[in-house]
Amino acid sequence: KPAEVATPKRTQDIIKRHGFSFKKSLGQNFLIDSNILRKIVAAAGLDKSKGALEIGPGIGALTQHLAEEAAVVTAVEIDERLIPILGEVLSDYDNVEIVHGDVLGLDLHELFRRRYADVTGVSVVANLPYYVTTPILMKLLEDKLPLEHIVVMIQKEVAERMAASPGSKAYGSLSVAVQYYCEPELVCIVPHTVFIPQPNVDSAVIKLSLRKVPAVQTPDEAFFFRTVQASFAQRRKTLWNNLQSWIGKDKRELLERAMTQSGIDPIRRGETLSLDEFAKLSFALYEAGI
Ligand code: SAM
Repeated sequence: KPAEVATPKRTQDIIKRHGFSFKKSLGQNFLIDSNILRKIVAAAGLDKSKGALEIGPGIGALTQHLAEEAAVVTAVEIDERLIPILGEVLSDYDNVEIVHGDVLGLDLHELFRRRYADVTGVSVVANLPYYVTTPILMKLLEDKLPLEHIVVMIQKEVAERMAASPGSKAYGSLSVAVQYYCEPELVCIVPHTVFIPQPNVDSAVIKLSLRKVPAVQTPDEAFFFRTVQASFAQRRKTLWNNLQSWIGKDKRELLERAMTQSGIDPIRRGETLSLDEFAKLSFALYEAGI
């Protein structure tokens, strides 16, 4: 079995030998603790019938574990300096393909057709670059890729926002968007010491299990999310004030009728509404012709 990449010594050796220097702007914090890697991979429930997609393999610490557990692994890395390093570190695995590119610009459906035609399910497993966590996750969800789970290391505060319940401080449009598509589960909180270099924020592993159908029915998905955005526009304002700023004061009567129709008290704040209530609200606004 090839040697573990995720030890402080092996990581330092690889980095030195290749003269690699970390780029903070690419969110490069590499994992050097194999226990954490095992936890991440276990949460994804992989086996030799499954595929894994990794975003940002770095020098291959997690990729190696995925290659051991899954049938097919694809890892997308933006930093071209890492491509030859990955080629060397992962040379013993014939089930891994490294794709050089920005995941945000990739046609992932094409990649899925090419790589995962013969597997029984695909999960995203990654230690994400923190500067683009939300855009990456939203792309995965909005592209409606056929995914089973998304298991990712992210900033702890962002993980808490994704899993937050209505009425809590962390609850916002990100919570609604994630929970619309997935069931979130906080897997573990991770100390700084498992990375080099150490990030200056706390980290957590979150597992998002994709729902077969979205959590709620909506009149129109884009309209539903616009309603949610508008309701959270200014957190200290009431639902009524936020919705009026969106819709316009001239449509006051329409808004009044829609609010009555929805059965939701307009003096509540957006942050107290459940997904069901946002769905009701968006139906009422939609049907009122707003
Ligand atoms: N998986 C490795 C590990 O756990 O040690 C590295 C994780 S590091 C937090 C994030 C990685 O994502 C870096 O290798 C970085 O170069 C890469 N990256 C940053 N932005 C990216 C993007 N837009 N597309 C693909 N990879 C990206």
